[in-house]
Amino acid sequence: MTRHAVVIAGGGPTGLMLAAELALSRVDVAIVERRASQDLAGSRAGGLHSRTIEVLDQRGIADRFLSQGKVVQSVPIAMIPLDISDFPTRHNYFLSLWQEGIERTLAAWASELAVPFYRGCEVTGFAQDGTGVDVELEGGRSLRAKYLVGCDGGRSLIRKRAGIDFPGWDPSISYLNAEVAMTEEPPWGIRRDERGINALGKLEDGKRVRVVLNEPQVRQGGEPTLDDLREALIAVYATDFGVHDVTHLSRFTDAARQAASYREKRVLLAGDAAHVHSPQGGQGLNTGVQDAVNLAWKLAQVVRGTSAESLLDTYHAERHPIGARVLKSTMAMAALSRGDERTNALRETMSELLSMDEPRKRYAGMMSGLDIRYDLGRGHALLGRRMPDLDLVTKSGPRRAFTLLHHARPVLLNLGEPGALDITPWADRVERVDARYAGRWELPVLGEVPAPAAALIRPDGHVAWVGDGTDQGLREALTTWCGPPREG
Ligand SMILES: Cc1cc2nc3c(=O)[nH]c(=O)nc-3n(C[C@H](O)[C@H](O)[C@H](O)COP(=O)(O)OP(=O)(O)OC[C@H]3O[C@@H](n4cnc5c(N)ncnc54)[C@H](O)[C@@H]3O)c2cc1C
Repeated sequence: MTRHAVVIAGGGPTGLMLAAELALSRVDVAIVERRASQDLAGSRAGGLHSRTIEVLDQRGIADRFLSQGKVVQSVPIAMIPLDISDFPTRHNYFLSLWQEGIERTLAAWASELAVPFYRGCEVTGFAQDGTGVDVELEGGRSLRAKYLVGCDGGRSLIRKRAGIDFPGWDPSISYLNAEVAMTEEPPWGIRRDERGINALGKLEDGKRVRVVLNEPQVRQGGEPTLDDLREALIAVYATDFGVHDVTHLSRFTDAARQAASYREKRVLLAGDAAHVHSPQGGQGLNTGVQDAVNLAWKLAQVVRGTSAESLLDTYHAERHPIGARVLKSTMAMAALSRGDERTNALRETMSELLSMDEPRKRYAGMMSGLDIRYDLGRGHALLGRRMPDLDLVTKSGPRRAFTLLHHARPVLLNLGEPGALDITPWADRVERVDARYAGRWELPVLGEVPAPAAALIRPDGHVAWVGDGTDQGLREALTTWCGPPREG
């Protein structure tokens, strides 16, 4: 039986990001993916939010995405654009880029890092015991892993077989997503009706049409048909524009569900396998990629034996609340997208509120993911928040803070007396960098915060300890996040 330390079921954006992150930490990881190639039917996600671009920048690969996409200096909430050009980040924009391009770029990175793919192959089940998981593949083959991660999308087999509940809300609306030809020229752009949004846009070839349409009745699952599409077009536009030559037709809904637990012993969930919701606000792919970045370094440390298995519980503790708030905000956005007079009045009121500076910053901070704070206790404002990408001066010259994270290792950034803060018992795992920084410390939404004397930065870029000129609490933080000190 072939063995890997970690097997990932599903090579969508979440599985690809997780695999690359694990490989970067030198973990033997493999992806099992049902699709034979990275080709993706239909358009799905339309881009990357600021924090996702930042996490890619932390690994030195943001340019690969930026060179393909188009920058938009606002984030939409229920189609109300929120300006983020004044946010203190190098990536104060949304990057418009289709999911297929994002997946291909992540897959190329994973391949560079020599991640093995079992493509055109489905996980059909698994059995876990005290030391690992037997992962069954179609055709009777199996793999043995220490951990199995379900990144297998909203209908996750891994979640179901692990017996993890998926509580939430049934859909209030269903949409058809299609790529078609039309005999008559349709009215391009967005049309709102009582139920929600409809959109007709030109595909890249300038001739064919990308259609997003709400359906007269809520439908779930099943394969939508050309007749369903005609019926929905007629219900909104009173004609089907001679629709024909359908190359993609799928259905999505605003069902909102979240896994009750992101971990069942040696089985973990990430991405859509852990949370599904309306695509409004473009949160799904972004949340999945960030789940992966939170989980990967923890799993790497546990697999290597530098940290106890309990570190994995912090993955659920930190990411479940983030998923829950995505469900809540997307439910609000789906409700606000209806076109009846009362909802129109509510949207106008929201729009007015969001034009004020503080509400705009708060909501743009949430949509962009830049405001995320993991609950690591009380203390300095930086604690649990993302480390800003400061322009540092080190003894080898100027360096951006994010470049310190390229190898996905924890970093102790010492901005005080060079050589202070002895971390010898963790020197094999933690990089200590002495640097100077003379500028302001400005955080998204919060504004300026006092300059810290040092910061322990986790591989995901979140700050786990903030120094005030002493080493108080540093030992405990290093033990919690980087494992116990090495003896002798
Ligand atoms: C119409 C639409 C628009 C969207 N717009 C946005 C947007 O603008 N922004 C955004 O962030 N998100 C958006 N999303 C959501 C986004 O597409 C998903 O959140 C994202 O794809 C989730 O990634 P994932 O890797 O977790 O899951 P998936 O992309 O679903 O990938 C799961 C992978 O697992 C594979 N798989 C499944 N079962 C098995 C198995 N048993 N064995 C092996 N392989 C398996 C599948 O083939 C697939 O490749 C949109 C979604 C839709 C439908």
